Amino acid sequence: MMRILIIEDERKVASFIKKGLAEEYYAADIACDGKEGLRLAETEEYDLIIMDIMLPYIDGISLTKELRKRKVATPILMLTVKDSIEARVEGLDAGADDYLTKPFAFEELVARVRALLRRNEKSKMSSLKVKGMTLDLLSHRVIKDGKEIILTPKEFAILEYLLRNTNKVVSRTKLVEHVYDYHFDTETNIIDVYINKLRSKIDTDTENPLINTIRGVGYIIKDD
Ligand code: CA
Repeated sequence: MMRILIIEDERKVASFIKKGLAEEYYAADIACDGKEGLRLAETEEYDLIIMDIMLPYIDGISLTKELRKRKVATPILMLTVKDSIEARVEGLDAGADDYLTKPFAFEELVARVRALLRRNEKSKMSSLKVKGMTLDLLSHRVIKDGKEIILTPKEFAILEYLLRNTNKVVSRTKLVEHVYDYHFDTETNIIDVYINKLRSKIDTDTENPLINTIRGVGYIIKDD
């Protein structure tokens, strides 16, 4: 599942965007000012940042410059009320990837989000493979030993994250953060439930399982 950071001080606009993105199966966090945005963008992993220009503490242009200076390469979609060429050029020069003028239709925002994510995804892999299993990241299909396995979006997201971290132990907390919103308030036990469901679908060979439990820590998929 893609994670998006929304940096916007107008709560109504921010929650409207978040709600709409959730309907498109994107998880989103909200930062209400430039400082919080900088902190989250630096410490969390996002696939995209949607940022307003007018923000308390640090404005969008300065924040974009600062993020690029700190080597945060996450694509940035800038929201602006100023529909002037100067404002657009200033935003793009600062390191933003695209901009959208307020007020905007939600369909247009989603189209831009998709285009930016695709552009970013192209530079990454389109499939992940381990031990006879292939995850197609574009079509979201999973093939194991020549057969298709049907997974729910959450199961797919967990499996994808484990595979992106092949040979590394992934903690339950990391999985929860990746699969749910940052502020999702739940026990990490929910991950165990999903892992069990995943195992019943992909780990039919119990002698040599794909997903290994590291007791008290998390899970690992090893490629040997
Ligand atoms: Ca604003």
